[in-house]
Amino acid sequence: TGSNAALQRRREAAVARGVASAAPVFAARAENAELWDVEGNRYVDFAGGIAVLNTGHRHPKVIEAAKAQEDLFTHTSFQVIQYEPYVALAEKLNALAPGDFAKKSLLVTTGAEAVENAIKIARASTGRPGVIAFSGGYHGRTMLTLGMTGKVSPYKKDFGPFPGDIFRAPFPDARNGVTVEDALNALQTLFLTDADPSRVAAIILEPVLGEGGYHPVPAEMWQALRAICDTHGILLIADEIQSGFGRTGKWFAIEHSGVVPDMITVAKSMAGGYPIAGVVGRAAVMDAAQPGGLGGTYGGNPVACAAALAAIDAIESEALLARSMALGETFRARFADIGARTAPYRMWDIRGLGCMLAVEFVTDFETAAPDAALTKSVIAHALKRGLILLACGMHGNALRIMVPLTASDAIIEEGLAIFEAALADAMA
Ligand code: PMP
Repeated sequence: TGSNAALQRRREAAVARGVASAAPVFAARAENAELWDVEGNRYVDFAGGIAVLNTGHRHPKVIEAAKAQEDLFTHTSFQVIQYEPYVALAEKLNALAPGDFAKKSLLVTTGAEAVENAIKIARASTGRPGVIAFSGGYHGRTMLTLGMTGKVSPYKKDFGPFPGDIFRAPFPDARNGVTVEDALNALQTLFLTDADPSRVAAIILEPVLGEGGYHPVPAEMWQALRAICDTHGILLIADEIQSGFGRTGKWFAIEHSGVVPDMITVAKSMAGGYPIAGVVGRAAVMDAAQPGGLGGTYGGNPVACAAALAAIDAIESEALLARSMALGETFRARFADIGARTAPYRMWDIRGLGCMLAVEFVTDFETAAPDAALTKSVIAHALKRGLILLACGMHGNALRIMVPLTASDAIIEEGLAIFEAALADAMA
């Protein structure tokens, strides 16, 4: 293999430039919330492979279930010969998703594919074309989902044109001065100017804006959207790809609001590190697409289904929803404390739900302007000291916490101590 630097040179020569990596580090192995690189350096992992590892790297139950399935068969294509783990995972999703009505599920491979399929199903179910998404929203990198993703650089730049009938409303983000009332007024204006509500199939929203900066959707916003959807016969979709499976202290983040969506898109932490995604929703809606209209060769891969069933079991049996709430409190308190001590008035607006939380770095107290440079510097210093961190947000100045919920208190404290030291380095 070689050193990180040697691998980085090979990577730059062999891998397309458009795939960006946050760190010039190459993994050798990983366990729960720890990772070792090819040079033997150890890292505490607060990034969890972009919110995929709520149950940690190589959760023993997940690995055992995947290995057991590998010993039986690894692929048939569910569209050719069926298998029980696909059905069992669909049953589990139907049971976990909020709403006391009959539900059905579809399994695919990636988050973007889940979102694409939710829109296909919404169009088939309503007979309408329109989709409303929100500024700062992130739904994937395929053409339809890029059209829905509400951030130009780096995602959309140079890749248009995007599919039509996608409309954008402002996200209710108090940090940037958009109240729920402002967002709802803008949506009503959109209905008058561009998007005839009787031609809108779906409104899709992340319950906690993920790539867009970990802004939770206020409960009143969900309630208002539910009412608008009911009035106009529009389907409400919660994109829980990043916020689901215990990240926020509930199975699904929208549960914090009490509002029940018509469909939910799932992926990431559903399977503890295996590529699988899905859509769960009202049975009548989910059945709108005709047989053969949905699917894909690898959709609901049996090894990934087995891993997902085991990851879900681990979230249940290890009480990780409660753990997320407790960790959320820890991070809030420690961030407030560290900020006050090490970077007064530069760490601002600790926000999120449960352990899906972020803190922003700003230039000064007066303007509280986003400070992406400080954020970058903290992340770089943390990496050198052995902590993996990731940013998010429209201005790249929010630090988000996606640490495995299975991490021990000792590892969390170790990570926070490294963070504080990295912050001091960056401030020096
Ligand atoms: N929706 C949300 C909310 C996401 O966070 C992501 C991935 N960051 C996606 C969709 C796309 O998922 P994938 O990268 O698996 O296609």
